Amino acid sequence: MTNNANENAIERENADANAPQNAASRRRVAVLGGGISGLAAAWRLSKIAPELDVVLWEKTGRVGGVIGSKQIDGFHLEASVDNFITTVPWALDLCKELGFEQELTSTNNRYRRTFVVRKRRLYPLPDGFMTMAPTKLYPMATTPLLSPLGKLRCALELILPRRRSTEEESIAAFVTRRLGREAFERLVEPLVGGIYGGDASRLSLQATLPRFAEMERKDRSLIWSMKKSQKKAKRIKREEESGARYSFFLTLSSGMESLPRRLAERLESENRARVELNREAVKLEKASGANGADGWLLTDSTGKTERFDAVLCATPSDAAGALFRSVAPITSEVCAGTERTGTAIVHLAFRNEQVKRPVAGMGFVVPPSEGNGLLAGSFSSFKYPSRAPEGTTLLRIFVGGARSPDSLTIPESELLDRVLAETRALLGVEGEPLMSDVARFPNAMPQYYLGRLDAIRRLREELAATPTLALAGNALEGVGLPACVKSGNDAAEKIAADLGFAVEKSGR
Ligand SMILES: Cc1cc2nc3c(=O)[nH]c(=O)nc-3n(C[C@H](O)[C@H](O)[C@H](O)COP(=O)(O)OP(=O)(O)OC[C@H]3O[C@@H](n4cnc5c(N)ncnc54)[C@H](O)[C@@H]3O)c2cc1C
Repeated sequence: MTNNANENAIERENADANAPQNAASRRRVAVLGGGISGLAAAWRLSKIAPELDVVLWEKTGRVGGVIGSKQIDGFHLEASVDNFITTVPWALDLCKELGFEQELTSTNNRYRRTFVVRKRRLYPLPDGFMTMAPTKLYPMATTPLLSPLGKLRCALELILPRRRSTEEESIAAFVTRRLGREAFERLVEPLVGGIYGGDASRLSLQATLPRFAEMERKDRSLIWSMKKSQKKAKRIKREEESGARYSFFLTLSSGMESLPRRLAERLESENRARVELNREAVKLEKASGANGADGWLLTDSTGKTERFDAVLCATPSDAAGALFRSVAPITSEVCAGTERTGTAIVHLAFRNEQVKRPVAGMGFVVPPSEGNGLLAGSFSSFKYPSRAPEGTTLLRIFVGGARSPDSLTIPESELLDRVLAETRALLGVEGEPLMSDVARFPNAMPQYYLGRLDAIRRLREELAATPTLALAGNALEGVGLPACVKSGNDAAEKIAADLGFAVEKSGR
């Protein structure tokens, strides 16, 4: 990986001048952004079309974007991405392709429970409650998290008719309509807040969690639909007696950052792509001709301009909005107009005996009504092996989002004090932490607010009509790692097809 963009550009110009004719005439593709979306795109592109000269520009001095792992005093910390979901294949497939099988680590089954905070105490989420619907009635009937009326209102869901309109609906409106306001406020809002950090009264159900809209459309009742799909999943599990089994979430024992690092290393060592660090794209123009027929001119922050036959942009949405302004105005407007929230992750470590009210679970979520600014917390030392030395507890607390945006701007020491005070109140922690760490990600989470589906449809129409230009990243159709990998795969396939390569969809 090259660090000095200028030296690199000069070196490359010289190299190009001396290169044999066939190498010099290779078509050039620029991938912008060295986060997981851009790296996955470069990887897929190099596999479909090894003849292409793929160059990845990354603005900073490292690859991985928001992904970052570190070791402090024997504790393994994941600054942002902690793990990825395995119900969709894209991240898992990529890990396998890169030889990570031995490092895939399942969550510790002994601590499967999630807790919900109510009046500063932790109560288990009713067993079988999945994001926004119960699958088991008895735990719902006995949970102290809901009042008797709230429980009755939930049970009514089984007989409520389906909604006729197909218009986008907010998560808050959907859940309140199906399960009642209490279940929304006390169970669903904290769970969704922990994932998106956004405002559930503005988040589009169809753009964020479309499978629940689909359940209502197909089966009318969410409870009934979830029970049905669980039965089916159990049957499939029984039938598939062979093959590796993975938990719902997986992590990498070497740290999540080893995924983008290995991708970048393999791209370079196998001559699939060049990864150029400290190279920020600031301007994108058509070389001439309509719709990029003669290629694209890309200028970096040092003022150097290069011509490419195709450009795949996998930067965060604000940068994509600025770059696409003159070449794809609708895409530019949608990207620039995407609201984003920021999150801070605070790691705290204690000796086990300092935690006076421990709970055995993966973590907890916090409803906004608790008013403590926390979104959620994970018990990292329970969740995965080898995250913390024997006899210690490692906590990972999420703050920020739409709920407490000042967490991203107040001094770090103030944020740490605030989180520590809340942690003491929740878990009865005494004494000072053995280790603490704060990582902040301003504007890192795009919010798919109402109107998102139409915006993405318009964006896709414009890009489909603009050959050799593509977009990937977490602003499109999912913020999780698997969705980002898929967005990279899809964008690579579009570019390859536009350049005339036969593309077998990675599909699944
Ligand atoms: C705190 C936090 C926790 C998360 N936890 C999880 C989790 O546990 N599981 C999960 O599945 N997902 C999680 N996510 C979501 C997921 O990590 C992200 O959506 C995903 O990593 C985004 O990848 P990306 O490549 O699209 O963007 P980024 O990681 O933002 O990468 C974009 C890259 O583009 C570069 N760039 C910017 N501008 C330019 C330019 N002009 N030219 C060149 N390069 C440029 C940036 O420097 C950056 O490296 C989490 C996100 C956050 C913030």
